[in-house]
Amino acid sequence: FNTERFGQHILKNPLVAQGIVDKAGLKPTDRVLEVGPGTGNLTVRILEKAKHVTVVEMDPRMAAELTKRVQGKPEQRKLEIMIGDFVKAELPYFDVCISNTPYQISSPLVFRLLSHRPIFRVAILMFQREFALRLVARPGTSLWSRLSANVQLYSKVDHIMKVGKNNFRPAPLVESSVVRIVPLDPPPPIRFEEFDGLNRIIFSRRNKTIHGNFMAKGVIEMLEKNWKTWCAEQDQMITDDVDMKSRIEKVLEDTGNTENRAAKMDVDDILKLLSAFHEIGVHFA
Ligand code: SAM
Repeated sequence: FNTERFGQHILKNPLVAQGIVDKAGLKPTDRVLEVGPGTGNLTVRILEKAKHVTVVEMDPRMAAELTKRVQGKPEQRKLEIMIGDFVKAELPYFDVCISNTPYQISSPLVFRLLSHRPIFRVAILMFQREFALRLVARPGTSLWSRLSANVQLYSKVDHIMKVGKNNFRPAPLVESSVVRIVPLDPPPPIRFEEFDGLNRIIFSRRNKTIHGNFMAKGVIEMLEKNWKTWCAEQDQMITDDVDMKSRIEKVLEDTGNTENRAAKMDVDDILKLLSAFHEIGVHFA
């Protein structure tokens, strides 16, 4: 195991560790999921407040250290350690997720948590500063991106704490931030793949017009393919002269989006565009 590869930067500042756990507002009945506990600096503080903690740790040496830390203490029976890769692990039920995980798995972490059911109450997560700022970015600002829109479709995200690199050993190269993610409950009834599929197109050049992005190489061909699959699934006749280009242009025209840019569109604007496409059978996944 290599420190850089597994992002093993241990949080050494006890005030920051306590601050993160406090922000979760844990209740004595809570079941908590922690990803990448390392030596357990967050874990021991979570154990003080929660009913049960499941941790997923990939490095068996770290897991062994954590085991030693709680051995023989009353907290030991509240802790379950799963050794393995979070991305592949089968997740238990949890009310709250708290974690300072390696930044390589930031994106998979967020989307796995948001697609988990039943839905959790809150997640307090440490990320590389730039990633955190993209999560909370608002339309019209320079960091508003496909990531921002995808995450904000399902949750409310707030930046709650800046954490400088000197709070870690060894110190990472980048600054960090803690965010709070509160999933919308109930979640919007939108297939993620559809919303993300549209976002891939309109954010591919976020300052280019929506029309321009749809006319980019390969886009129309892909939508024609999706359209044929969709027709087959609906038992509809497939005609060869779909004219996908005019269909798209009509939707963009009717919804007033032709000259719009993703850089300025909020989640609702994107949802309206998506549903106009769905009405005429144009699908993105
Ligand atoms: N949470 C601890 C802390 O704040 O001090 C440790 C943080 S360290 C940045 C990240 C931890 O995640 C390491 O212990 C590393 O071994 C573990 N890890 C890395 N990749 C992982 C993965 N895919 N699944 C589970 N754990 C992982």
